[in-house]
Amino acid sequence: MMGKQGRTAALRRDVAWLHREVCARGLNVGSAGNVSARIGEGMIITPTGVRGDTVDPDALVRMDFAGAYRGRIAPSSEWQMHAEIYRADPRAMVIVHTHADCCTALAALGRHIPAFHYDVAAFGGDDVRLAPYALFGSAELAGHAVAALEGRTACLLANHGMICHGRDAASALLTAIRLETMARQYLLALAAGEPIILGADAMAAVSERYKTYGQQPERGTT
Ligand SMILES: [Zn+2]
Repeated sequence: MMGKQGRTAALRRDVAWLHREVCARGLNVGSAGNVSARIGEGMIITPTGVRGDTVDPDALVRMDFAGAYRGRIAPSSEWQMHAEIYRADPRAMVIVHTHADCCTALAALGRHIPAFHYDVAAFGGDDVRLAPYALFGSAELAGHAVAALEGRTACLLANHGMICHGRDAASALLTAIRLETMARQYLLALAAGEPIILGADAMAAVSERYKTYGQQPERGTT
């Protein structure tokens, strides 16, 4: 069995891998965005201004949800948004925040993602909500994100980007990729005309089908 130190080291490698992947797949450019993983009563999070291609597992910041950390390296400016999401939802084990192009474009238009496609249900509801704008790094933004994520695994952040969570690094990455893909498809549909939105009954049937077949890889439960 892996000891406590071994688990911490493995989680540091996971977070570094995730940050690299998010950047390599074009979901973040430069040092924008940040990722974290829950550990005990706190988290391991990317430091401020670190690039995906040069991230070092040992340079990640271990901190508690109140903001205390050891060492000289400061955590991401968005640490509070991550902390409040972990506090609010026990299913959240890994968090990805990006300024991915299509999510950010929709967020700049003040749009949420409605049920234009049945797979919107994969994020836990009939739409992907848009959290209202607040200053980056603020407690207000953290509160907006928590509210927009209630019962969900992803949300858009107005004039900013997106944030999502998963049960592990691989599922959080998949959720981020699926959300950006869906945002791109919705933008394409909007550019060509008026997308047809599925009704509540149709979406309830999709949720039911997901439950039956366990096809909800992003969800931490079931
Ligand atoms: Zn941001």
